[in-house]
This record gives sequence, structure tokens and C-alpha cells, in this order.
Amino acid sequence: MIPDKLVSINDLLIKSGTKLTWQRKALIRFLIDHPDEYFNTEEIYDRVRIMYPAIGRATIYRNMELYTGLRFVEKMTYESKITRYRLRRDEQQMLHNLLCLRCKKVKVVQADWAQEMSMQLLKEHGFSVLNHQLTFTGFFQNCNDEGCL
Ligand SMILES: [Zn+2]
Repeated sequence: MIPDKLVSINDLLIKSGTKLTWQRKALIRFLIDHPDEYFNTEEIYDRVRIMYPAIGRATIYRNMELYTGLRFVEKMTYESKITRYRLRRDEQQMLHNLLCLRCKKVKVVQADWAQEMSMQLLKEHGFSVLNHQLTFTGFFQNCNDEGCL
């Protein structure tokens, strides 16, 4: 748990006029406890209902969309078949997604060559990269359908 992150998200919700219901708090806590991990709504449901059995699937979906709109959650979609969410990081870091097409899971990785690529873009095109999202699709060699991460 990152307390500063929780405070800043709560502030954001209050400023946007969003009521801080227990469901919303539970979902934010879950996201903060699992940074750098992408989840679909079903996985969030399975995990959050252990502590909060009264939470509903539709509530999770609605709030993930709300959080995406408020820009503290990053949403990843692939060919309208895969939708996953994770907490957006504050730091400007070059993170990349490895999407396994067999188990549909996403691994977030950091790669130094992205920094070199940014330097190259600045040198060759005078373009200064602030942020980017790069997703590689493929298969992990050790993947079974249960999940490979
Ligand atoms: Zn896999």
C-alpha cells in the first residue's frame, strides 16, 4: 500500500464530485496493492469479493471505466476481445506490455532500449517523447492456458 497514492486518488475523486463509496474504496485499495499488474474485471471480482462479498461485477466494470476517465487507471484493450486495467504510475517510466495471446495475461516490463529510441527520435525528428505505450503481442514459451506469468 502506498499511502500518498491513496490520498491523491481520494482528492481526485472528491474534486471530480465522485462519492467515495465503500465499493470505490475497496477497488482503489486493490489497485494500489497490485501495481504494475493488469487485471480484467473478472479477476478483480474474484479477488476483491474475498474481502467484500457484496461487491458486484457491474460495479467493478463501471468504476474501472470511471477511473480510466479520471486517468489514474490505465486501460488496455486488444481487438475488442481483451480489456485489462492497472493503476497508472506517476513516474515517467518507459514500461511495456507483453500480452500473451494464449492465456490473455499481460506482463509489464521495463526496457532500457526505449530510452535510446526516445533519444533517436529527438535526434532524427526533433520529437521529444513524454510518454508512450507499447504493447507486444505473442506467446510466452512456458505458457499453458492457465497462465504463464
Ligand atoms: Zn500465456
